Amino acid sequence: MPDEATVKKMSELLRLGAVMMSEACPICSLPLFKLRSGEVICPVHGRVQIVKSDEEIITVGTLAALDELEKFAVNTINRMRNELENGGLSMDLDSVRTLSMWLDILERVRRLKLIIERSRS
Ligand SMILES: [Zn+2]
Repeated sequence: MPDEATVKKMSELLRLGAVMMSEACPICSLPLFKLRSGEVICPVHGRVQIVKSDEEIITVGTLAALDELEKFAVNTINRMRNELENGGLSMDLDSVRTLSMWLDILERVRRLKLIIERSRS
């Protein structure tokens, strides 16, 4: 059984949205946790290198790229909204088209992320 500090660490990881994996730490055989960033850690030994399939590596990379794109789209939409509000950008057809295009991008990014996440589990 893991000691109290380890159990505390494990529940903290879960609280942060980490997922307990079926793989065990090669050193202490505690279950490994996958962080939201995709990093895999042991609650005692920290970062652990487990052999991932090429497909898994590609998936993690794609998800990271989509995360960045999602952030960028949200920032851009917020910035445009601000500029439209304070008159920095005029409310013409071009602005509305651009805004609509960014919303499409955001929607597609979120849909792609869902598809990838579903295909992993
Ligand atoms: Zn360990």
